Amino acid sequence: MSATPARRSLAAVTLLALLVLSGCTAGPTLHARRITAHQPAPSASPFTPSTSPSTSPSPTAKPAPGSLDWYLSQVPTFPEAPQPVPLPLPTTGAAPFWHRLPTDQKVAFITIDDGGLARPSEVADFVWRARIPVTMFLNSPAAEEYPEYFRQIQVAGGVVENHTINHNSLAGRSYDYQKREICGAADKLEALFGKRATLFRPPFGEHDSTTLKAAHDCGAKAVLHWTETVHEGKVRYQTPEKVVQPGDVLLMHFRPALMDDLLAALKAIHRAGLTPALLEDYVF
Ligand SMILES: [Zn+2]
Repeated sequence: MSATPARRSLAAVTLLALLVLSGCTAGPTLHARRITAHQPAPSASPFTPSTSPSTSPSPTAKPAPGSLDWYLSQVPTFPEAPQPVPLPLPTTGAAPFWHRLPTDQKVAFITIDDGGLARPSEVADFVWRARIPVTMFLNSPAAEEYPEYFRQIQVAGGVVENHTINHNSLAGRSYDYQKREICGAADKLEALFGKRATLFRPPFGEHDSTTLKAAHDCGAKAVLHWTETVHEGKVRYQTPEKVVQPGDVLLMHFRPALMDDLLAALKAIHRAGLTPALLEDYVF
């Protein structure tokens, strides 16, 4: 779909880094086993899909509804993503706050929040095989508890970003409190995933000018809200147009129906004549 070669290279580099960090002796080849349900990956075993992204189910065998092959069979075919034009960033000492990215390019962005509640097992495989660009705004305790789950999605092309430690509303809180929540999570996520978060999403979207300053001081280039939410396979528009607009940001969560939510987001983006793209190709 729209994951760039650069992003794939980054995934490979990440994989190599994981191999080095874990002391794995398998060598730098991409032959690790793919994810299987109910079988958590050992910490030294990074995820590499065994199936080509272009593979589709045999035309004679109808995939069972709800299976990974079924989800893959439902993914629309998108127009090729445009070459990303990076967005200019302010130099004011505060991160900009965006509901949607200020771009006219025919792209929209999929984001997945939190991480503590549910982690459906086939998400990494779905992300890889359908080449779905996703950004994960994680609470650092969830990331710390389930690092392999999120690393598998990272290796599949997803990017981990910052959603605080404790998921409390930041609006009205002191600079010190907000900085502790934002920098504390950024430090932990960087240690776990090998990349400093460059995007921040405040819990509940609630923020003030202190949030934008603290986020900037913790390394965030932008603070992201959203324009649509997706829950249990339904897209809810929070803008009058009721159709996904260029630059829109779709929000879903690590919840039991995440596979349905990903599919619903893809279909809504496709209906709008847009292509999914990765936030980090536009903001860095
Ligand atoms: Zn949240």
